[in-house]
Amino acid sequence: MFIQRSAVNRKYSGMQSIRAMKGLFIVNDFDRITLMNRRTLLSIGLVAAATTIPFLPRNSKTAHAMDDDIQLESNPKSVRPFTLTADDWKSRLSDEAFYVLREEGTERPFTSAHNDEKREGEYHCAGCDLALFEAGMKFDSGTGWPSFWQAIDGRVETKRDFKLILPRTEYHCARCGGHQGHIFKDGPKPTGLRYCNNGIALNFKPA
Ligand SMILES: [Zn+2]
Repeated sequence: MFIQRSAVNRKYSGMQSIRAMKGLFIVNDFDRITLMNRRTLLSIGLVAAATTIPFLPRNSKTAHAMDDDIQLESNPKSVRPFTLTADDWKSRLSDEAFYVLREEGTERPFTSAHNDEKREGEYHCAGCDLALFEAGMKFDSGTGWPSFWQAIDGRVETKRDFKLILPRTEYHCARCGGHQGHIFKDGPKPTGLRYCNNGIALNFKPA
């Protein structure tokens, strides 16, 4: 119990509980987040082995039930945000993905295989697997970044940033907060918007 409780992100009580097992995001319906990788599990486990008794939760049966796992959904009915520490993200993401998703970096253009992707399917957040775009929302902008004229409702959030001095609209995954790209107003109909996305921030899931 101590192992799992120690990895809880207490900022988000009331959120789904998330845990990584066998490289997958696992989630349960209860109120804690326990997103971990095996290394974290191992390192905490070593500490726990030495300190289990003093730190056992009072109601260990309840704690155990709270860690029952179901897979983190790509298309949940409602999005429940969560946060992880930078160290947690670093252990889960490649350096390049961390730079884009967690530090709002921008990948070099024409580097993503998603640019030429034409199949039906969905584009999921590379941080938490939430579906952000459908293939039918994609268009060829010629910019060198995967581009979409619309995001799936409720799956991305926006904020203004001033990294290029001029204000622009940044958008990110509504669940994990991972930076995706910027929205421009030179897209095609019907929205006239261009969601200019870093390819590395998305995983394509063919239909
Ligand atoms: Zn995400």
